[in-house]
Amino acid sequence: MDNKTMMQYFEWYLPENGLLWERCAAQAKRLKENGVNMVWLPPAYKGAAGKKSVGYDVYDTYDLGEFDQKGSVATKYGTAQEYKNAVKALQNQGIEVLADVVLNHMLGADNTEEVAVKESAREDRNREIGGEERITAWTKFDFPGRGGVYSDFTWNASHFSGTDWDEGRKRNGIFCFAGKNWNRETDSENGNYDYLMGADLDTDNAETVRAVTEWGKWYLDTVSPDGFRLDAVKHISFDFYREWLKTMRAHSGRALFTVGEYWSNELPKLLHYLNCTENGLSLFDVPLHFAFFNAACGNGNYDMRKLLDGTLLKERPENAVTFVDNHDTQPGQALSSFVPAWFKPIAYAFLLLRKEGIPCVFYGDYYGIPHDRIGPVKNLRKLIKIRSMYAYGEQRDYMDDPSVVGFTRSGDSEHGGSGLAVLLTDSAGGSKRMQVGEQFAGRLFYDAMGHFAEPVLLDQTGTGEFKTDGGSVSVWVTEEAYRHIRTAVE
Ligand code: CA
Repeated sequence: MDNKTMMQYFEWYLPENGLLWERCAAQAKRLKENGVNMVWLPPAYKGAAGKKSVGYDVYDTYDLGEFDQKGSVATKYGTAQEYKNAVKALQNQGIEVLADVVLNHMLGADNTEEVAVKESAREDRNREIGGEERITAWTKFDFPGRGGVYSDFTWNASHFSGTDWDEGRKRNGIFCFAGKNWNRETDSENGNYDYLMGADLDTDNAETVRAVTEWGKWYLDTVSPDGFRLDAVKHISFDFYREWLKTMRAHSGRALFTVGEYWSNELPKLLHYLNCTENGLSLFDVPLHFAFFNAACGNGNYDMRKLLDGTLLKERPENAVTFVDNHDTQPGQALSSFVPAWFKPIAYAFLLLRKEGIPCVFYGDYYGIPHDRIGPVKNLRKLIKIRSMYAYGEQRDYMDDPSVVGFTRSGDSEHGGSGLAVLLTDSAGGSKRMQVGEQFAGRLFYDAMGHFAEPVLLDQTGTGEFKTDGGSVSVWVTEEAYRHIRTAVE
């Protein structure tokens, strides 16, 4: 079987020109040729900011760019038809499509309501401050612009747990609706991290659960994605997606690969969530992202032997989706922790060429981020191609030095020319004896990254003295692979 490589097909600052779906459809063939076989598309439904919305300020999940709402028919990325065309174009190339599902909150309500609330302390949501009061809350979602097409369900305060704005007194606060509680089984940051923003969906309310379940079935029938990327799962009852996913899989009769965004550097929290959801999904490996970030910011003093410590990739590889950066970690965004450019090829070589995990390549790394004058990551396309064709077989780890570490892949008979050696460092360059496999005795290996012109000769045991430059990575491949890579990547 061939390796899976996911791509996140958007960054935060894409132009607001409604052209992403068309661009994606036009690029589908090239993406597949370059080794991408799974694509995560951004939220496709109308956000409160209309055509300016990246998609996480959900207004109407039934409006995929089809109704005149929030000042526009199309979304930032295009129309509903263009979205469906893009999904189809990707699938026609054999690329699986993941739909971004945002069910924690809604914004941009059509009308307000008077609601009794209890205010929660911002840093400890389990603590009430003041007594019960009445606020004017933006919680009525009637969707007049859609007029009941696809669903006549409308939302009111009973479907939400709380909000953070009193329109009457123009006042911010964390307001829990009277008679309700924050959903108990959520992340423990701030005491209870059920509330994130907007009108917070109350998954203790059966009508709310029914509404988002009916929507999910409609979405599967209408768009036919191959799986999901779930937004903000730490803010949603941990048992909610366990059941929702079961229902979606039963409805579609398909496996529906799913990855959740649980934004935490704490491995025990991620493992707890996986247990709560019966391992019914994968999670982004946030600890590995921070290991890369810390290594890149360590002035060459990071202990590279510890790169994998506390990561999903090490502790729960079958549930790990690895990534270097995303739309939230890029400069200017909420969780900004952008891995510096010099370290990016190192990080990508590490996660793309290892056996475990499904790597997710960020659009902003693949194409660059013009908004911040950031160019594409050097050698990234080559690395994806090498993953798709040559990163197979047994893995031998040489994570045995504070600065220069590496690993090898033995190759397999199914993938001609496969087998490789990766050597990388966060500080001064160096070399390391690593075994690729006895079948490579007497063969030459070449650096596909182009830092060394001279090949490395492997001895009778298929072992070679591989090299890396300082602050760099070299990927040593067979002669067959080397010749192919030089011409195959555009
Ligand atoms: Ca919530």
